[in-house]
Amino acid sequence: MIDLKEKIRNISDFPVKGIQFKDITTLLKDKEAFKYSIDEITKYCSKYQIDYIAGIEARGFIIGAPVAYQLGIGFLPIRKPEKLPSVVERVSYQLEYGENILEIHKDAINNGDKIMVIDDLLATGGTTAAVFKLIERLGGKVIGASFIIELEFLNPREKLEGYDVFSLVQYS
Ligand code: AMP
Repeated sequence: MIDLKEKIRNISDFPVKGIQFKDITTLLKDKEAFKYSIDEITKYCSKYQIDYIAGIEARGFIIGAPVAYQLGIGFLPIRKPEKLPSVVERVSYQLEYGENILEIHKDAINNGDKIMVIDDLLATGGTTAAVFKLIERLGGKVIGASFIIELEFLNPREKLEGYDVFSLVQYS
């Protein structure tokens, strides 16, 4: 058992004033903490029959790809606009200030594919809720979402009701 909180660095006022940014580069650099995080999320995911891991750019790629590799399943990148080369499905959603857009290849998902979403951190839940919508629009079945960090004080699970959500470290 590793104390992951000890490995996560807090940066105040990044990227804007008032935000306590949870920097996972210090966790990723630590070989035991990195392996432990991937292994624990893999263990959680292996409870389900999953066809694909969908990782959210960019830190969701770092966590999601090794989990998919360990499970022996495929990985679907969910990317920022104009990065994916083929035909895309897109979702836009409100941030505290302004709007964000994410895309996935339209042919990445077949009807009924079972998908687990992975990102580094769950904050308000807006990003994850938008990604769930994107997957479901293409006929995918969302199994749930997994994270290293959950900011419980932002009540993200309110936006993700009815879905299974897993995190390794919680801040309340
Ligand atoms: P949200 O849509 O509010 O759940 O935000 C989740 C996304 O924003 C994730 O991709 C996180 O990496 C990033 N994020 C939000 N808040 C923070 C934070 N305090 N520290 C680090 N990353 C954050």
